[in-house]
Order: sequence, then C-alpha cells, then structure tokens
Amino acid sequence: MLTSPDADLCSTVAQGRRALNVIAGDAVDSVSGERVDVACPSDGKVFASIARSGQEDVEHAVQAAREAFDSSPWSRMTATERGRILTRLGELIDRNRDELAALESRDTGKPKRQGVADVTATVRYFEYYGGAVDKVHGTQIPFLDGYTAITTREPHGVVAGIIPWNYPLQILARVAGAALAMGNTLVVKPAEDASLTTVRVAELALEAGCPPGVLNVVTGYGAEAGAMLSGHPGIDYVTFTGSPATGTAIQTAAARNNRGVTMELGGKSPQIVFADADLEAALPVVVNAIIQNGGQTCSAGSRVLIEKPVYDEFAAALSERFAALVAEPHDRDGDLGPLINANQARRVATMVADAEASGLHVLAKGRVSPDAPDGGYYQAPVLFGGVDPASTLAREEVFGPVLAALSFDGEAEAVALANGTDFGLVAGVWTRDGGRQHRVAKRVRAGQVYVNGYGAGGGIELPFGGFGKSGHGREKGFEALFDMSATKTTVFRHI
Ligand code: NAD
Repeated sequence: MLTSPDADLCSTVAQGRRALNVIAGDAVDSVSGERVDVACPSDGKVFASIARSGQEDVEHAVQAAREAFDSSPWSRMTATERGRILTRLGELIDRNRDELAALESRDTGKPKRQGVADVTATVRYFEYYGGAVDKVHGTQIPFLDGYTAITTREPHGVVAGIIPWNYPLQILARVAGAALAMGNTLVVKPAEDASLTTVRVAELALEAGCPPGVLNVVTGYGAEAGAMLSGHPGIDYVTFTGSPATGTAIQTAAARNNRGVTMELGGKSPQIVFADADLEAALPVVVNAIIQNGGQTCSAGSRVLIEKPVYDEFAAALSERFAALVAEPHDRDGDLGPLINANQARRVATMVADAEASGLHVLAKGRVSPDAPDGGYYQAPVLFGGVDPASTLAREEVFGPVLAALSFDGEAEAVALANGTDFGLVAGVWTRDGGRQHRVAKRVRAGQVYVNGYGAGGGIELPFGGFGKSGHGREKGFEALFDMSATKTTVFRHI
C-alpha cells in the first residue's frame, strides 16, 4: 500500500485534486513544494494540481528505482511471478475503471467513451504482458566442440519513460507493461497537461504487489523534470513518445551517457483509397482516423490519397461527414472533444489559417458546439481538398482534426505520395485487388500497414513504431519485450 508522510496529501488523485509524486512507494510532494495547475480542456478551469519536480525529486526517483533494481526481488523473481503482479495490476485498473476513465476524460478533454476505451486498452496491456513474459526465452547456439553457448534476455536496469498527454493511460501501460515484465524498474515523467491517471496507476501498482521503487512517477515540466531525467547518468534506457523536436533533445541527452532509446515521434499517415475500393466501408474509417482524440493521435490518418476516378465522389462524401461534425465538451461524449491546451489550439488554428492563406481549398468545416464553454480549447474539424503534396499541410503533423485530401493517378503515384513525407508510422490501403494489396503494403514505408481497415481496435499485440522521422524501436506486442531487454551471451567451456 501507498504510504504518505502527510495524510492530507495522500492519494487524493481519485478526487482529482492534489496529485503527488510516487517515489519508493511513498506519495511525496516535490522537495520545493511547488506545484503546477492542471486545467480541464473543456472549460479551461483549473481542477487539480501536480508536483513541480526538480533535480532533487528526479535524484530521489532514480535512486529509488536503482535500489529496487539492485535489491528488491523484482528483477530476480521468476518471470511468472512478475507476470502475475502485472496481471493483478490490470485487474485493479479494471476494478477502478469508472474513476480512471472519468479522470482521463476530464484531464485530456477526450470524450467519455474514449476514456473508457483507453482504460480497456490499459487493462489489456497489463494482461498481455503479464501473460507474455514467461514465454520469452533465449537460445542455445551450436558453437565450438567442448563448449555450450546460450543467450538470455536481460533487463536494461532503470528505464525512464517520458509520456505525452494524448493517451496518458495507454502509453504508460505499453511502456510499463513491457519494461516491468522484463524486470526493469521505471521512472515515469508524464506530461504536465495530463499526469493524474499515471499517478493513480502507480498507486495501484503498489496495491498489486510491485515492490516500492519499481514504478516511480515524477510529475512536472518537460524542460525541467523531463530533461533532468532523460540526461541522468543513473538511467540505463529511455523510452519516449511525443514530438520529433523533443525526441531529438532527449536522444541528445541520452547520447551523452551513451544510453539506448526507443522513440515514437508521430507521423503524417496516409489512407490510400483506390478506385476499386469499397468506398462505403472506407468512409467512416477515414473520418474516424482523423477525428479520434481530436486528431491528437500519433497514428492519425491525416492524409487521404484518393484515386482520380473516384476523387469527386469520395471527397463529396467526406465533405458531407465533416460538415456534420461537432466539437463538444468531454462529458457530452460527442464526435470530438477540445484540444489539450491553449497552445495546441493556437498551433492548429494557425496551421489551418496559413493553409487557407496559401490558397489551399477548404472542402468542408465542422463546427464547435455553440454552447461549449468559452474557456475551452476547441477546434472545428477541417477538410482540405486538392492539397498540393509539397505544401506544409501535406507534409507536417498538425495534431488536430485536420484532414488533407490529395488525388493520385495509379499505383506508382499512390506509393510515391504515401512515401513523400519524412514520416513513416502507419498507412491504410483501400482496394479490392489482392495483388495490389500486397504490392502497395510492401512498398509503403510505414511501421504498420492496414489493408481495408485502419488501426484495428488498439492492437496491443501488434508491433508498432516508425521509420524515418516517426522514430525507431518498436512498442506493443512481443517486440516491445525485446526492446526492453538486451541479449546476453554466456559460454560454458566443458572442463
Ligand atoms: P512534447 O513532445 O514536447 O511532450 C511530450 C513529453 O515530453 C511530455 O511529458 C513533456 O513534458 C516531455 N518533454 C518536453 N520537453 C522535454 C525535454 N526537453 N526533455 C525531456 N522531456 C521533455 O509534446 P508537446 O509540446 O506537448 O506537443 C507538441 C507537439 O508534439 C504536438 O503538437 C504534436 O505534434 C506532438 N506530439 C506527438 C505525440 C505523439 O504521440 N506522437 C504526442 C504528443 C505530442
């Protein structure tokens, strides 16, 4: 159970008020006592605060994780035992699903049903990694006569997980599920905009039986706690999801200590719609892939490439859908909620205005609910048509509900356009032609390709990660267990 030196400060996250760091099994405020206000994106009103962690807090957390790695039973217990604790954590999250879903939705502004879906995925991550970890094993390698050579998978040690605000629960679970399963200990720095569910899960991890110090959380600003953590020499491995610019800063900091990293840095993912596609099936999926979570999804399908013979028809159908979309407060559970904060809302609005000013054509705009609170960070969905592939809108991540429609002529041009950005995270291919499904899926440069679908319901089991500017390393599925461990070779001489 969680212990706190100050009962007043203890575990009030459930009420969404005053969240503390979780270090070595204790709920503790930052050493400075400074805090960061947390506003609900739906109305901009402050409803909670988190600890503003600094150097000393990071030191304590890294030290706690090191001690837990070196001295607690965690990295030495059997994989099955560790798996059981993670499975139990999944069960506890499930038991607290209403609280967590409501908190996630309020903290991020996402519609209630998305909060619920995120909790379901979070439970699945812990269930999956809890069950998978004792199926990971090494090999025995034929070697010289008189020798036996084996490989084993060893934990890195202390892992730092730097988490973004778009899917705090899910990304925490995919990082912690794999890292903890392999026997690492963790220090997590959630995003300053959405830290509350991360703190709550760390509390539940203690209740599930994770020894103190195995899962630590330090909240606060990226440029402070985040930078201190990623550059800390006591960290053995860093995993990060967020923007390419921050990814570069974190890799640079980790490189000073020659530490390994996993980077998941977003994308400009294409949905390729061929003329022979089932357009009716494609339509709702293409729309959902850009409005889910207000477009603030690394794998958002933010470009739709439409083959010329069906361009007008499909663009018209998309326009009709976009014109009907409404951004609303999270508790209305509408098509989409607000964006995360004022900066993000400004950024997206500026990108839309710049695109319009550069002559790009708006095919349709949705709307913001007229009675949405004034202080909220709303952005109406926008569909641009006939977008120039060289334009900023076709090449840069918007991270908002903005879809760029481009036309193409034939398979070769489709592949060239799909591969025409610096990113390579996910792609969708819509065609009934079996040969083309395989050819295009093979030639598109993306970490995941979906044929006649997109996203496929979370895909805990499916390896995920990018090419190019989308990052490197793989999360989800078994692959993450390999990323979160290193191969050790041991050779026995028969004497
Ligand atoms: P960010 O990448 O700056 O923040 C992500 C996390 O990194 C947060 O926890 C933040 O506190 C931390 N961080 C920030 N600066 C850091 C530093 N110097 N060292 C260590 N940690 C640091 O994202 P943002 O500023 O919140 O959003 C900016 C843009 O990033 C968005 O508009 C979007 O394009 C992109 N983004 C992508 C994803 C994704 O899943 N790919 C997620 C969030 C944001």
